[in-house]
Amino acid sequence: MGSKRSPTDFLTLTLAFCAAAVLPRARATLFTDPSALPSHKAYDYIIVGAGPSGSVLASRLTENAHTDVLLIEAGPNDAGQFSLEVPLLASQLQPNMAFDWNYTTVAQSGLNGRTIPYPRGRVLGGGTSINFMIYTRGSKDDFDNYAALTGDEGWSWNALQPYFKKVRVVQHSPASYTTNAVY
Ligand SMILES: Cc1cc2nc3c(=O)[nH]c(=O)nc-3n(C[C@H](O)[C@H](O)[C@H](O)COP(=O)(O)OP(=O)(O)OC[C@H]3O[C@@H](n4cnc5c(N)ncnc54)[C@H](O)[C@@H]3O)c2cc1C
Repeated sequence: MGSKRSPTDFLTLTLAFCAAAVLPRARATLFTDPSALPSHKAYDYIIVGAGPSGSVLASRLTENAHTDVLLIEAGPNDAGQFSLEVPLLASQLQPNMAFDWNYTTVAQSGLNGRTIPYPRGRVLGGGTSINFMIYTRGSKDDFDNYAALTGDEGWSWNALQPYFKKVRVVQHSPASYTTNAVY
């Protein structure tokens, strides 16, 4: 896979478009300018990448109100971006668009030497901001098979079902969710 950006560009982008959320959730702040970050503040955890993985991790860690987390994102803020908010407009968001890393694959021998776009979100929310918001879930059999194969009941349908129910709950952003807002 190749990128059109050099490592130096990458670092510059990371600093230039750093959006950092200082959690915990009850009192989180979104910064879109790294220079606005409080100086001399210490964090228990620094997480790089505010896609779903980084965001969920930050959210879970800050369920303990005494844990300070800095979540850093290379891309810009997603708030108020019409094309990010309407689900099926995702097809207009990549490749070679402002919220995409603009990766392409190396030449594929199985595709007559062609390279193809490899979209990855570069924006607050990561891939979830540029994806199609399609949700589907494996069947009970799938998960029970994982449990049987791994010998780990944690993969079984009954063990996972409470979490499937949990992710179905829509959590609206707080009304005051704006740049540099504390909520
Ligand atoms: C076009 C497209 C359509 C999709 N459609 C669907 C769908 O309909 N349904 C579905 O369930 N899934 C879909 N997916 C998949 C889903 O979006 C991904 O599985 C998910 O976003 C992966 O989450 P992640 O946190 O692991 O990584 P990502 O979402 O890629 O998040 C990583 C984040 O880290 C940031 N980052 C990377 N490097 C740095 C750095 N050095 N410094 C700071 N920040 C950095 C990135 O900018 C990005 O925001 C789609 C994905 C794409 C690309």
